[in-house]
Amino acid sequence: MSEIFKQKNAWLKYDEAGKAKVMDFCEGYRRFISDNKTERECVRSIIAEAEANGFKDLMTADSVKPGDKLYFNKMGKAVALFTVGEKPIREGMKILGAHIDSPRLDLKQNPLYEDTEIALLDTHYYGGIKKYQWVTIPMAIHGVICKKDGTVIDVNIGDNEGDPVVGISDLLIHLGANQMDKKAAKAVEGEDLNVTVGSMPLDKEEKEAVKKNVLNILEEKYGLCERDFISCELEVVPAGEARNYGLDNSMIIGYGQDDRVCAYTSAKALFDAEASDRTMVCLLVDKEEIGSVGATGMHSRFFEDSVAELSYKLGNYSDIDVRRAMSNSHMLSSDVSAAYDPNYGEVYEKKNCAYFGYGSVINKYTGSRGKSGSNDANPEFIAKLRDAFDKNNVTFQTAELGKVDQGGGGTIAYIMGNYGMNVIDSGVAVQNMHAPWEVTSKIDIYETYLSYMAFLKEL
Ligand code: MN
Ligand code: MN
Repeated sequence: MSEIFKQKNAWLKYDEAGKAKVMDFCEGYRRFISDNKTERECVRSIIAEAEANGFKDLMTADSVKPGDKLYFNKMGKAVALFTVGEKPIREGMKILGAHIDSPRLDLKQNPLYEDTEIALLDTHYYGGIKKYQWVTIPMAIHGVICKKDGTVIDVNIGDNEGDPVVGISDLLIHLGANQMDKKAAKAVEGEDLNVTVGSMPLDKEEKEAVKKNVLNILEEKYGLCERDFISCELEVVPAGEARNYGLDNSMIIGYGQDDRVCAYTSAKALFDAEASDRTMVCLLVDKEEIGSVGATGMHSRFFEDSVAELSYKLGNYSDIDVRRAMSNSHMLSSDVSAAYDPNYGEVYEKKNCAYFGYGSVINKYTGSRGKSGSNDANPEFIAKLRDAFDKNNVTFQTAELGKVDQGGGGTIAYIMGNYGMNVIDSGVAVQNMHAPWEVTSKIDIYETYLSYMAFLKEL
C-alpha cells in the first residue's frame, strides 16, 4: 500500500503509559455497552452522565445563555446534548451524531404461545440480520411494559446476576440434511426466530399449563397480564457482557457496537471538550437500522425542534436563525464502517477499506449501485477535517464499505445533508457487523474519540 495514504498502526504511537490510557478508556466503553443494550437504556445512562457533568433539561430551562449545557430528551429514545457557544447559533453548530438502536429481535404484540409443552415468544427481527447467526446463543429480554394506568415498568431478564437466559433453538446436524442444502438466507427464516422461555407445567392446570406458568412468573415479577403484551416494547438481545478480545486484549467483542461505539465516543468527546465559540452538539438517535423513521429517528423534526427551542430560549427567536443554524453547521455522522476481514478479503478493495489499528474511518460516501442513497461529502469540508486531525496527531483512514457493487449501506448523513450542512460519515471499523457479537479495535475506539475531540476543537 502507498505510504502516502497509510499512516502507521496507531498502537505504535503509544508507550506503555499511553497504552494503559487507551485500555482504561475502552474499559469504560466495555462497561457502557454491557449495561446499555437498548436505545432507552442508552438515553437514560447518557443523560445521567450529562447531569453529572452539569447538563440541564432544555425543556424546563427558563432561559439559556452561552456556556450553558443542556439536553433535549425525545421520548426517552433519542437525545440531543448542547454546549452553548458564545457565537449566535445562526452561525452554525458543530454536531456529532450517532445512532443508539441496534439489530435485535422484537417481541410481536401477541407473542406468547405453547407448542408440545414448550412455551415460546414469537418475534419480528429489527434491522438487517443474518438470521442463522441468532440461534443457539444465550439471549436476554430488555425493554418496558406500559400499563393502562400509565405506569412504565422496566424489564431486564438475563443480564442480572443469577438470572436465567432465553434463546432460539436450531436443528441438530444429524437431522439437518434438508436445511444444509438451503441458501444461507433461507436456512433460518424470520418466522423461525421463536424464543424458548419455558417447559415446566403449572400444577393443576389442564390447558396450556407451561404457558400459564410463564405468565405467572411474569405477573409475579412485573405485574404483567397477557393483554399487557400489546403495549410492551421488549427486545431480545444477546445476553452477557462485552469482553476483551484477542490474546493481547487489543479488541472488544460485544453486542450493539454499531453504533454505540460512536455514540459513546461522541458523548465522551462533548463532555471532555473545552469551551468553544460555536455551539457543540452530541445527537444520539433511534431507528437508524430501519430507515431513520418515526418520531425518534433522524427523519423526525425533533432535532430541528430542539434547535428552535434553544434559539427561542436564547432570546430573539426567528425562523431564519434556526434555518441558518442548521445550514451553517458542520457534522460528523458518527457511524461505524466495515473492518477488513482476512477471512473474507475478496469483498474488500484493499486500497480503499478500513483496517483495525489504523484509527478513525472517514467515509466520503456510502450507498450502493453507484453511490445511490449516500451523502457524498464535499472535499472542501474533508480538507478542513484532514487539517484538524493532523494538527491533533489523530490517526485516521478513509474507506468505502466494500468493493464497488458488492453491497452497501447507509447512515443518517444524507438526512442532515438535507438541511444544507456539511456532513461526513466518520467512526470506528467493525468486524462481524450486525452479528450478535461485533468486534472493534480498542486503539480505533480511542483514536475516534480523539478525532471527535479534534473536530470540536478546530472546526
Ligand atoms: Mn450504523
Ligand atoms: Mn447498522
